This record gives sequence, C-alpha cells and structure tokens, in this order.
Amino acid sequence: MKNKNSRIDSENVFMKITEIFEKEKRTFSFEFFPPKNLKGAVQFGINAGQLMKLNPSFVTETCGAGGTTNDQTLDVVDLFNNKLKFTCVPHYTCVNATKEKVAYDMRTFTDRNIENVMLLRGDPPEGSKGPLPENPDGLNYASDLIKFVNENYGHFCIGAAAYPEKHPEAPSIAKDIENLKLKVDSGVDFLVTQMFFKNDYYYRFMDKVAKAGIKCRVIPGILPITDFRQIKRFAEISGAHIPDRLRKKMEAVLDRPDEVYKIGLDYAVEQSNDLLENDAPGLHFFTLNKSRSAVEIYKSLAEEYTDINKSYKGSFTPHVP
Ligand SMILES: Cc1cc2nc3c(=O)[nH]c(=O)nc-3n(C[C@H](O)[C@H](O)[C@H](O)COP(=O)(O)OP(=O)(O)OC[C@H]3O[C@@H](n4cnc5c(N)ncnc54)[C@H](O)[C@@H]3O)c2cc1C
Repeated sequence: MKNKNSRIDSENVFMKITEIFEKEKRTFSFEFFPPKNLKGAVQFGINAGQLMKLNPSFVTETCGAGGTTNDQTLDVVDLFNNKLKFTCVPHYTCVNATKEKVAYDMRTFTDRNIENVMLLRGDPPEGSKGPLPENPDGLNYASDLIKFVNENYGHFCIGAAAYPEKHPEAPSIAKDIENLKLKVDSGVDFLVTQMFFKNDYYYRFMDKVAKAGIKCRVIPGILPITDFRQIKRFAEISGAHIPDRLRKKMEAVLDRPDEVYKIGLDYAVEQSNDLLENDAPGLHFFTLNKSRSAVEIYKSLAEEYTDINKSYKGSFTPHVP
C-alpha cells in the first residue's frame, strides 16, 4: 500500500506527481538527459534555465541504456529537487541490475528526498546486439522492477512508459496492452508515451487503454522535430511512423535547417493543440536538452491551456546556492 503523503515542506517541494495531478488538470513537463561533458553541461544549464521560466509542472531526467549514466542522472535530479527545490523525476532501468543494486539505489533516492521515479526495463547498452540476456534476479521486464520497488519502497510515486504504436518487440498492440495492464497493476501511478507524430495513434491507443481498465493518466510525449535526419533515426528505432505529409515536406528542405525547424515547430504546435483540445492530460516534451522549440510551442498553445499553472505556483525562482 502506498503512502500517499509526500514530505511537502513549507516551500511546497518534494511533491509526488499524483499530488501535482490533484492540482493540475493538465501537466506540462520536460525531459532532459544527463550532459555528457562540460560543454554539454553549460548548454544544459542555459536551456533548462529557459524552460524553467515556463513554470513546468515537473521535469524528468533520463538515464543511459543499461543504467550507464545513473550517477549523472542522480546528480542532476539531486540538484533540481534539493537545491533548486523543483520536482525532478529520475528515470531508472533494470537491464543489468540486481535486486541488491536496485535496493541500494532506491534507498539513495529516498535519502535524497526523491518522491518519484520512472521505472523502465531499458535497452541493451549501445553496441551490444541480439535479445536481452535473462536477468539473474528475475528483473526481466519493467513490471518486475515496478513490483519489486512497490513492494519494498512503496512510498515512491511510480511512472512508466507506454507505446501508442506498440513497443517494437511486442507481437501485437493487443499483447502490448495486456503487458501494459500487468505493468500498471504492479504499481504504476502515471504513464508517459513514446513519441508519435499522428494523434490518431494516441486516441486509438487511449480507447484500448480504457477498455483494458487502465485508469492512470497517460501523458503524451511530444518530440518537436528540429533535425529531421536525427529524428528519422529515432523514429525507426522506436517504431514511430512519420506521416507522409510531414516526411515529404521535410525531405524537400532537408539541407535548409531554418526551414526544417519551422516545419517541425508548426507541426508540433498543431499536434499539441489538437491533443489538448481532445482532453489529453497534458504534454511531456522530449527536449533533447534544447529549449528553443519547446519554449515556442508552449507560447503558441491556446491560452486556456497554459495559464492553469500560474494560479498557485507563481513564477519559478531558482534558489541557486
Ligand atoms: C517516456 C519514455 C522514457 C524512456 N526513458 C528511458 C531512459 O531514461 N533510459 C533508457 O535506457 N530507456 C528509456 N526509454 C526506452 C525504454 O527503456 C525502451 O523502450 C525499452 O525497450 C522498454 O522499456 P519498458 O520499460 O517500456 O519495458 P517493458 O514494459 O518491460 O516492455 C518491453 C517489452 O516487453 C514486453 N513485455 C512486458 N512484460 C512482458 C511479459 N511479462 N512477458 C512478455 N513480454 C512482456 C512488452 O510488450 C514490450 O514489448 C524510455 C521510453 C519511454 C517511452
């Protein structure tokens, strides 16, 4: 049984995402990844600073394939939660992990006042091929990890991944939803989707999710296209289809970055407004540690959707030590 009370202090920090849901009908959140070097860290600081001015509901920080950046992820999450006093959710994967390691990491998260965690299976580290080897401790799927964390560290608010176009390894969307239901029943509080470029995929998926009896929020993940070649690669790996209309427009201007950016921006604005008009419970932006397009999209959203956060949060003022 989860402890629903987080350790909210006088500054209203250390919030569980489910507590944010109680206050916000729609959430706006940003995903970052741990910077790889000093230059990346400077760029990250500048871009994250721009995005924080938008008063997001929360932010998340990815971890590298096979948990390869766990220390850096924790450093960034620690900075957000404990120094900037802003809710930041670490991503955490179980590929290569033992239960002992997971237990150690969950205790560390607890010690650092981290209330939320995105629990994922993960992919094999870059360069390794073939199916994932059997996990010696039985943590073969995200649902195994979620069950273990929920049973032993039930105070966490747990997020997990969902795939409107099905996970690439799943034999069918029906089977993937069956597995998703199992995952949610293991203790998931909210879901964030993989990127998709056609909202119909999300709407059809949500019908199936409802039929399967999955009741938690499923926040659509938005990836604004700024570099078409790069996003095409991501889409191929993740199984996300790029609609012909968008692909043709992009291919016609491939070597003109300003035009690629403009087409990507207009498309993401259209996609985001349509999702909100159709009652999506918010938007989660995969920022790739860049701020320009997410800031422009946010500012182009219909006002009725973007002023909701302001009433209780005020402007974000970082407490930089
Ligand atoms: C929003 C989001 C954030 C992400 N963040 C990261 C990150 O920070 N770091 C990272 O490395 N990766 C990240 N990923 C990628 C993710 O790790 C991969 O997509 C991975 O291949 C699957 O992870 P999962 O947690 O969805 O796995 P699972 O939910 O375990 O599903 C994986 C596959 O196994 C199948 N399956 C599940 N349970 C069973 C079962 N009991 N029996 C048989 N089949 C089953 C599912 O249908 C699916 O095909 C993210 C993905 C998303 C959508």
